[in-house]
Amino acid sequence: MKYKYLMTGFIMPVLFASGNPVAVSAEHQQHRDHGAHEHGTASLNIAIENSSLYIELESPAMNIVGFEHQPTNDKQTRAVKQATNLLKKATQQFGLPVAAQCTVSNIQVKSPLLIKQENPTDEHSEFHASYIFNCKNISALININVMLFKTFKRMSEIDVQLISSTGQTIKELTAGHSMLVIKP
Ligand SMILES: [Zn+2]
Repeated sequence: MKYKYLMTGFIMPVLFASGNPVAVSAEHQQHRDHGAHEHGTASLNIAIENSSLYIELESPAMNIVGFEHQPTNDKQTRAVKQATNLLKKATQQFGLPVAAQCTVSNIQVKSPLLIKQENPTDEHSEFHASYIFNCKNISALININVMLFKTFKRMSEIDVQLISSTGQTIKELTAGHSMLVIKP
């Protein structure tokens, strides 16, 4: 079954096994290898299975904190910490229908900027955040209001890959069009 294959081959290992959200897909991997992520743009992988909602955000650090090098002063260190805390506030970034009765069960935020490196380079770097929600009434999950645009003003476009029981769809969100429709 194609859907199952996608779930296990794509989102699940990212959230549960590898601990390496970079390996989202071959396409992304290639993208990264070329160091060619696009500032202003981020990507969301969203999967819905049974009563669980999986969300994974991948964004250039530029969109999140305004720089991509290791923090070099207190102000930048604070900015990284603050951004990480904001990303961890799942319900501030993703507005879910109240009727779906979703609660967050797991949040992870990772970035090379959170790890002190001995030989910092000026290469591009990213933030990865993953979220698992459990929803008592998942059939009421008809949309997700993506509020990342409000939190991180440098983010102007988010490419969404959505996987649900109805299949796989690609959508594009912008600050002016931030509502992800799951069920029309
Ligand atoms: Zn960059």
